[in-house]
Amino acid sequence: MRVKITETAKNMLFPKGTYCICCGKLIDNTRTYCLCDHCIRHMDFQYRLLNNDEEGVRIFDCSVAAMGYGVYERRLIFSLKYDGNTYIARIIAHILYDCLRHILEETGECPWFKADVAVPVPVHKTKMRERGFNQAEKIAKHFAVMSKMKTMPDGLIREKETDAQRALSAYERKENMKGAFKANPKRLGAIRDRKVLLIDDIYTTGATARECGCALKQAGAKEVYFLSLLASRHQKT
Ligand SMILES: [Zn+2]
Repeated sequence: MRVKITETAKNMLFPKGTYCICCGKLIDNTRTYCLCDHCIRHMDFQYRLLNNDEEGVRIFDCSVAAMGYGVYERRLIFSLKYDGNTYIARIIAHILYDCLRHILEETGECPWFKADVAVPVPVHKTKMRERGFNQAEKIAKHFAVMSKMKTMPDGLIREKETDAQRALSAYERKENMKGAFKANPKRLGAIRDRKVLLIDDIYTTGATARECGCALKQAGAKEVYFLSLLASRHQKT
């Protein structure tokens, strides 16, 4: 006799979230951030405050990355970005939220939580077509719900398609990014005099973040904060 497995039975046999989102190993669903013991032990959850001052000019009122850019940590982003596992965006948002809670407990203040609106770093429309989604937008959406703030996916517009940043030096990245972003003319009213939280997945040299931050400040944002999941260890070049 053929046995038809019902949806309920299937969910009991293979409950959602029982695979480590980093290595794919089978885990039970009580694990923090859907990570197995091995992967979570190898991840660096120490946040990094980032300095984005440029020639003495302050671009971000505060700027932080939740984790370092290690081989384990970056798999979270790769899995979201290149394998299209969009459910990981919610888990990443959770890591960001917990990171800010931690800062709040440690220092007694957390400006990031005071933002009126979360704006993701936009991807160019060619990338959007290829991938079908913007990973920073997915993360920002979940983070905004958790933190009870608004989200504005189209607050910034990516004006030019920049060369792949990976092979470029810090100086070249900066040149490459110049004028790449602008505030969306339709959203100026929602940016002016507001506290804006810029969200990205990875912070490398900061060239992208700073360009976005400048565009928001030029549009009249009162304060701009930055938050990303990963920061490259080689950020200071
Ligand atoms: Zn694992």
